[in-house]
Amino acid sequence: MYGYHGRALIVDLSAKSTEWEAIPESILRKFIGGTGLGAYLLYRHCPAGVDPFRPDNPLIFVGSPLVGSRLTTSSKFAVLTKSPLTGMIGDSLSSSFIAVEMKKSGCDALIIKGRSETPTLLTILDGEVNFHDASRLMGLDTFETETKVKKQIGHWTRVACIGPAGERMVRYASIANDGGRQAGRTGTGAVMGSKNLKAIGVRGGSLPDVYDPDGLNEIGRDLSRRSLGPATEKYRTLGTLANVAVFDALGTLPTRNFQQTTFESAQEVSGEEFHETHFVKNSHCANCTIGCEKIVVTTD
Ligand code: SF4
Repeated sequence: MYGYHGRALIVDLSAKSTEWEAIPESILRKFIGGTGLGAYLLYRHCPAGVDPFRPDNPLIFVGSPLVGSRLTTSSKFAVLTKSPLTGMIGDSLSSSFIAVEMKKSGCDALIIKGRSETPTLLTILDGEVNFHDASRLMGLDTFETETKVKKQIGHWTRVACIGPAGERMVRYASIANDGGRQAGRTGTGAVMGSKNLKAIGVRGGSLPDVYDPDGLNEIGRDLSRRSLGPATEKYRTLGTLANVAVFDALGTLPTRNFQQTTFESAQEVSGEEFHETHFVKNSHCANCTIGCEKIVVTTD
């Protein structure tokens, strides 16, 4: 099989144990990766009717066959769990270097079950899993946590972590990775907090083989060229905030938790305004030519 490892890594925080579970090729072909494969794994591993904050609600990180390739915007992963916000399937997407490191660790999905008795930092280095005390990280925000984990485990470690909101199981808390990317929907960070899991550090290993590396590289070059065309220009210059003013004008801007569809101060938080007054520099995920990420500074 190419593009996959064909297995999931299951970590049990209660028992401090791990096991590998094979994922059949037929399932991978059917569900491919990301949210699709994650929904299948959640269906398999989440007991019916479970409270989202119970230890047996799994927290599942899933990659895809293209993660680790040079295809632009391919460094994506999905986080799935039973959502404490909706009580239904929760899926949230994020991206960047940790997606590649997770795949290098030898699995197509990382399934975290159980609940640690004390705050825990989970590390997966060259595929080897370890559990560390994370008491000293508690209360830190996600930037501080990532910095400290890298100092402890190594600079090239990629980190996913929660801040105080996740620790307190705020039902919409997110999981942060790679210095500010967020799995920001459906309260995945609250479930991570309910497991007493403050952070995950991943580094090392190897990617699965690709069927036609030269062909894939050729497609990658073509896609990169085309990704710099007019269709993505607004994201390259203003970032996804470019949509704020447009959605507001169309009456489709989710406002006050979807109670309204326009926002009276939309212009002040628009991409144009941020670009004009607060823009510092561009940033981008791993293997991305578009770079919709904008670093802005505000003292407001
Ligand atoms: S920088 Fe933006 S466009 Fe590029 S992969 Fe990340 S989210 Fe996607």
